[in-house]
Amino acid sequence: MATYHIETYGCTSNRGESREIERALRDGGHRPADGPADADVAILNSCTVVEKTERNMLRRAAELDEETAGDLVVTGCMALAQGEEFREAGIDAEVLHWDEVPAHVLNGECPTHTPDTEPILDGVVGILPIARGCMSNCSYCITKFATGRVDSPPIEENVEKARALVHAGAKEIRVTGQDTGVYGWDTGDRKLPELLDRICDIDGEFRVRLGMANPGGIHGIHDELADVFARNEKLYDFIHAPVQSGSDDVLADMRRQHRVEKFREVVAAFEDRLDHWTLSTDFIVGFPTEDDEDHERSMRLLREVRPEKINVTRFSKRPGTDAADMKGLGGTIKKERSKTMSTLKMEVVGEAYEAMVGERYEVLVVEEGTGDSVKCRDPAYRQVIVRNASDRGIDVGDVLNVEVTSHNTVYAFGEPIDEADPASVEPASVDSVSSP
Ligand code: SF4
Repeated sequence: MATYHIETYGCTSNRGESREIERALRDGGHRPADGPADADVAILNSCTVVEKTERNMLRRAAELDEETAGDLVVTGCMALAQGEEFREAGIDAEVLHWDEVPAHVLNGECPTHTPDTEPILDGVVGILPIARGCMSNCSYCITKFATGRVDSPPIEENVEKARALVHAGAKEIRVTGQDTGVYGWDTGDRKLPELLDRICDIDGEFRVRLGMANPGGIHGIHDELADVFARNEKLYDFIHAPVQSGSDDVLADMRRQHRVEKFREVVAAFEDRLDHWTLSTDFIVGFPTEDDEDHERSMRLLREVRPEKINVTRFSKRPGTDAADMKGLGGTIKKERSKTMSTLKMEVVGEAYEAMVGERYEVLVVEEGTGDSVKCRDPAYRQVIVRNASDRGIDVGDVLNVEVTSHNTVYAFGEPIDEADPASVEPASVDSVSSP
């Protein structure tokens, strides 16, 4: 669990994005620091209205780089439009889309939603923590000290909570936990496939997103689990299986419960059964024992499996963990490896979104975006932005048919279509926003 400092510049929608980031961080067990000097991560949510603003953003980023002992993350409009300027100014920052910031701050650790908190309904999204704890002892992780070994409530209890969320208006249920793949291990049974089937059997129009499941946890059930995805339309065809490294030696030093081949087998099971799906995975770069060849192995694995969503985290030490006692790599090496992998990530993810252009999908409107846009999710949980929502009478919770017309590396833009007219794509007006 990390402490964070966040600064926001610019318009109301940027402030809204910062609130979203903070909410995700607090949900993940992180807490605000007193200031940048005390923060494990300092976040600058930037604006780029005029040239003077850009200069101010660069100046403030450089100051934060100096002030914080932790990592610096730059997000927001300037980061997305002119991210290279921060690098050119010599500022040591991760440049990320708003949606990528919470995963980056997690630093490879699992989120800390726990089932002893009541399920949360946030707009049309219901958060359903199904179990507390994990079955691992990752050497870099501080979360496990707070959460302990997995403790799984019975299936019926979780199904009842899901039913209550649907009755309360949830259109998307997010099944979460430190490691959803080990749900039920403590009671001697691997119950995740049955739980997902039972949640999908609840009457109602809603979708279900499975949260982080470590490759080691789901490996023993990967065929059964992939079958559950193939037969349940309510399940987003999306898995988040953090591999963390393409090197078995580094995985052993991280004390991860999987090796690269197990991860490949999990991916292959889903690839065999699903056409349009999303593999989300995480890589930690610059782990203390990672050498150049280990890093190359991670790069090769990324090129090979080509995930549609990738979180790249530069390793940082968490107090009290075994990895914190290892002799670390220099900041320059970590920075270089992070930059190389982030560049490849943008290429790989961009290709996935490029392939969606011209395709048609049924999407769920999950939340409001910036300006008059809405954020939607397609059946593979890819983000699709639809603009001019109020003119079109689109509300959060609606289900739309859209054609993807363009993309912006980590999300797509879609235009509503009339299913009765295969040629229809309503044009967006000229004052459309350019990003979600
Ligand atoms: S699986 Fe590993 S990273 Fe996740 S909570 Fe457990 S020990 Fe931490």
